[in-house]
Amino acid sequence: MTDTKYVVIGDGNAGATAAETLREEDEDADIKVLTDESEPLYNRIMLKNFMKGTLPKQYTQVHDESWYEDRDIDLELETEVTDVDEDSKTVETDDGEEIDYEKLLVASGGSPRRLPFDEGFENIEYMWTMRDASEIKKSAEDADKAVVIGGGLLGIDLAVAYAENDAETYYLIREGNWWHRGLDAEGAEIMQRKMEEKGVEILTDTEVDELFSHPGEDQVTRVTLSSENKSIDGNSIENIDSVAVAIGQTPNADFVDVEKNDHGMIKTDEYLQTSDPDIYAAGNMVEYESPVFERPTVNGSWDHSGEMGEAAAENMAGNQEEFTYVNTYGVGHFDVQFLAVGDWNGEPVSRKYNEDEYRRLLFDGDRLVGAVMIGYTKGQEEIKEMIEEKERFEDRKRLLEKEFWE
Ligand SMILES: Cc1cc2nc3c(=O)[nH]c(=O)nc-3n(C[C@H](O)[C@H](O)[C@H](O)COP(=O)(O)OP(=O)(O)OC[C@H]3O[C@@H](n4cnc5c(N)ncnc54)[C@H](O)[C@@H]3O)c2cc1C
Repeated sequence: MTDTKYVVIGDGNAGATAAETLREEDEDADIKVLTDESEPLYNRIMLKNFMKGTLPKQYTQVHDESWYEDRDIDLELETEVTDVDEDSKTVETDDGEEIDYEKLLVASGGSPRRLPFDEGFENIEYMWTMRDASEIKKSAEDADKAVVIGGGLLGIDLAVAYAENDAETYYLIREGNWWHRGLDAEGAEIMQRKMEEKGVEILTDTEVDELFSHPGEDQVTRVTLSSENKSIDGNSIENIDSVAVAIGQTPNADFVDVEKNDHGMIKTDEYLQTSDPDIYAAGNMVEYESPVFERPTVNGSWDHSGEMGEAAAENMAGNQEEFTYVNTYGVGHFDVQFLAVGDWNGEPVSRKYNEDEYRRLLFDGDRLVGAVMIGYTKGQEEIKEMIEEKERFEDRKRLLEKEFWE
C-alpha cells in the first residue's frame, strides 16, 4: 500500500492546523502545504499590534520552517496554485509544477476587495498579509493625514493604527454607525467614543465620492465625500498622505472548479467536503452547512479557521466529524473588551448597562443564536454552549439581566 497523498493549499491557521492534524492522524502520509506567501504561519491577529508599532515582527511568528520539517510536512513557500485538475487529481503551480493528490484541502482564504475607483494609486493600502502590514506600518509612521474607509471589524484596526502613529485620521463609515451589521447606534457609540479618545475622527453616513491626485502623479491627495460633513467643514478632505481600505474580501478560489455560492465562495457540507468528494475546504470565505445554525454559514476568525482546518483534516483522514464550532471574534484595542459570538444576523434585544457596558443578544425565534458584548463579557462560554445546544428562551429579555449571568 502506498502512503496517502494530501495537498493543502494555504498556510494560514486553517491550512497549518489541518497539516498538523493530518500528521497526527496518519504518521506515514505524504503531506504537502503550498502557500504563495514568503514565510510560514504567522499570527494575523497580531498584525494589528505590529502595524501600530507596539509589537516587533518576530513575535507574530507562529511556526518556523523547522516546525514543518520536524513533522515531515513538505512546505513550499512562494508557490501559488493556479489550477486544480479534478479529473487527473493534480494541482498546478505558477512555476509549472504539477503535484498529484488523493485528498486536497483548499484553505486559501480571501483577498481584500479593492475600491472600485482605485486606478492603482500608490498610497492606497489594503490589509491582509504580513507584507501589507509592513507597508501600512511604514505608511502610518510617515503619514500626517490619513483616510480610512470601511466600517467593519478590520477597518477599526486600520483607523487605530494610523491614529496611534499620530496621523490625523478620518474614518469614513458608510452606515450610521460602526459595524452596522452587528451593532445598533447605542452599542456602537461606546466603540466610536473609544476610537475618538485615541484621536480618530469618525464620519458616519459618509462614502468616498471621488479620489484626486496631482496631474501625472500616482498619489491620492484629496477625496471628496458623498455628503457635507460639519466636522470637516464641507465635503472634501485635502492634503492626504495615505488612504487605507477595508471593505471586505473576495474569495481566493478561482483556481478550483467545485460548487460555489453567489459570491464565489466554496460550498461544503457539514463535514467540510465540497461537491468533489476528494476536495475539502476550510477557513475564511468557505460557506459550510452548519449543523448548529441549520443553514449555510460563513465565518471569519482565527480560532474558527483553526477549528475548521482540524475538522476538515480529521474527515480527510477518514473520520466523520460534523463541524459544530461556534465562532467568536474579539477587538482588543481599548480599555473595554468587545466580543462577538455566533450568528450576528438574528433578531436582536439589547441593553446598555452604563457608559461602557452593553450587550446585544440575537435570536432565531426563541433560540439564542448570537451575542455581541462590550465591556461586560460575563457568561461568554455559557453563551457559546447555549448556542451550540440550541437552547430556547421564551423570555428573551431575561437574558439581558445581569443577575441571570451571576
Ligand atoms: C489585521 C487583522 C486583524 C484581525 N483580527 C482578528 C481578531 O481580533 N480576532 C480574530 O479571530 N480574527 C482576526 N482576524 C482574522 C483572522 O486572522 C483570520 O480570520 C484567519 O487568520 C483566517 O485564517 P485562514 O487560514 O482561513 O485564511 P488566511 O490566513 O487568509 O490563509 C490563507 C492563505 O492562503 C494563501 N493563498 C491564497 N491563494 C493561494 C493560492 N492560489 N496558492 C497558494 N496559497 C494561496 C494566502 O496567501 C494565505 O496565506 C484579523 C485579521 C487581520 C488581517
